[in-house]
This record gives sequence, C-alpha cells and structure tokens, in this order.
Amino acid sequence: VKKIGVLTSGGDSPGMNAAIRAVVRSAIDFEMDIVGIRRGYNGLINGDAVVLDSRSVSDIIQRGGTFLYTARCMEFMNPEGRQLGLEMAQKLGLDGLVVIGGDGSFRGAEKLSELGMPTVGIPGTIDNDIVCTEYSIGFDTACNIALEAVDRLRDTALSHEKCSLIEVMGRYAGHLALQVGVAAGATAVLVPEKVSDIEKDICEKIREGRSSGKTHYIVIVAEGYKDKIDDIAKLIETQTDISTRVTVLGHIQRGGSPTVMDRVIAARMGYRAVDLLRKGIGNRIVAIKNNEVVDYNINEALCMKKSIDLELCEICKSIAK
Ligand code: ATP
Repeated sequence: VKKIGVLTSGGDSPGMNAAIRAVVRSAIDFEMDIVGIRRGYNGLINGDAVVLDSRSVSDIIQRGGTFLYTARCMEFMNPEGRQLGLEMAQKLGLDGLVVIGGDGSFRGAEKLSELGMPTVGIPGTIDNDIVCTEYSIGFDTACNIALEAVDRLRDTALSHEKCSLIEVMGRYAGHLALQVGVAAGATAVLVPEKVSDIEKDICEKIREGRSSGKTHYIVIVAEGYKDKIDDIAKLIETQTDISTRVTVLGHIQRGGSPTVMDRVIAARMGYRAVDLLRKGIGNRIVAIKNNEVVDYNINEALCMKKSIDLELCEICKSIAK
C-alpha cells in the first residue's frame, strides 16, 4: 500500500483531529502518501481532497472538532453514489481509506471495502454508543465537559434549596449520563436502558435527604430517556414541594479540547488503522477491549451487543444519599 486517504463522517467529536494526526503521521512513518478528504463521503464523491504532510497536522492535537470537516451524505447511501466514490478514490490513487465516524459511516466503509477499496473505521462519537468498543473518541472529553457544567450548577443549587435536573447528550444510550452522574455525585441518573421510578428513586430520596439536612439535589437525565425532562421536573416539584431547575446542556458537550484519554485513544486507534491498511487489510473497525486496541470485521462489529454498566447503576443508587 502506497497511498491512503482519511476522512471524518457523521457527527463530530473532540479527538477526531488527534486521530487524523495519528493517521497522517503513522502513514508517513510507514512511507505512505496520505490524502485528507474533506466533508465526509461528499468529499470522496466530489474529489475534495488535500495532500497532507507532517506539518499539515501541526497544532491540531489539542483542538476539538475536525479540521477536515464532517458531513452526512445521502448520495453515498445508494449504489450509484458509492460507485462514484470508489471511482474518485481510484482516480486519487488510493489503496485504502480510514473513516473516522459512527455506525452509519462504518456501513459506508463496509460497502467501499466490498467494492474493492480496503477501508478501516475508527469510532468517534461522544455518545459511546458504538457497540463493539468500550470507548469511542470524544466520550471522555464530553463526560468531563458535562461534569464541569454540572459542578457549576451544583454551586447554585446549593445556595438555594433546589433540585437541579440536567439533561446530557448520548442519543439513545445512557453511557454519558451514567458516567457524569456518578462523577457529579447525583441523587439519581435516568437512562434509556432502565425504567426508573420517579417516586421511589428520586422523590423519596429528596424527602429522606431533607430530614438529614440536605439542601440540594442533582438529577442527570439522558436525552434518550423515555420522559421529557420538564415533565419529570414538574412531577418532582408536585410530589416533594421542592423547586426544580432544568438545564439542557446540548452541544457544548461536543466542543472543547480533547482530554488525555481521548488523545491517547486517538493515537492508538489511528496507528492501528494505518497498520491494517499497510498490510492491505480492510473491512475492519478498530476498537478498545479490556483497554487493548483490537479490530473486528465491520459487519460483526456492528452486530455486537453492548449494555450499560449495570453495576455502576447500582453503585450510583447506593451512594446517593
Ligand atoms: P453519528 O451517529 O456519530 O452522527 P454516523 O457515522 O453514525 O455518526 P450517519 O449520519 O448515520 O452518522 O452516517 C454518516 C454517513 O455515512 C451518511 O451520511 C452516509 O453518507 C454514510 N452512510 C450511513 N449509512 C450508510 C449505509 N447503510 N450505507 C452506506 N453509507 C452509509
């Protein structure tokens, strides 16, 4: 393999730049040429490509987002679009491609591999909802950003007797909510994977807390939870007479400088992806298992199952007093 491409696709996440940098620098170290494709699969179809060298990725390791831009591409969902993408990849002289993104992007990568362009996926999403890997790039940073916001909200909740309900991202998964909830010392965490009993899991705790002198309560709600955060707040207010405050953190969780963990994972995954392509191996997703870098066949990886950490859910409940 002499020349490979790298692109970011789907939602952005902090650490994608660090991953691009790792891909570029390892490729150069393996004496391969490397091309950056801008705006995901759109760029592949349109030939929106830039030749990258070591200096092209200077000073990006600490930046959130992706300097190659990311996009969704409807055209790539159908065979004609993918054929155009393949032809452009061949025109650019690519022998392989690294795709940094989520599940949808990996489906695209699988199809490109089937068409004869070896493609390797690197998981990048703050939601950590990619089932084949314990961690995806951006998750740790998003946890830390959300945690910092919750700590600040705690300061104000503490000054008045209030219950602060904070909605964090995570799409249909509660991984982000659970991590943040435990780290923030929340009274309760509501995740889509488990149905909670608002009366028993929150209101009773508030009443008990009151009688022991507690004055503030934090409830973390995953965006994918079945009930709306405003309705939950109203219910708590009616049942306990405590005033509630709702904060939806939103996209601030997706920006910011990546943490040590995300940068290191990005370096490890980026290197593995290039190493696979160097050997001509495609149709793989790089993942973390038991803190080791592993890689899986794309289809097998996408069919795996991952559950929320149920033990951590129990610990969270047990230490919230
Ligand atoms: P995230 O969920 O973090 O936003 P993602 O990669 O899952 O990331 P999607 O919007 O699902 O985001 O997919 C990104 C792009 O991947 C799509 O716009 C499309 O170009 C391509 N893609 C998605 N699904 C498929 C598919 N089944 N076949 C081919 N290409 C696909």
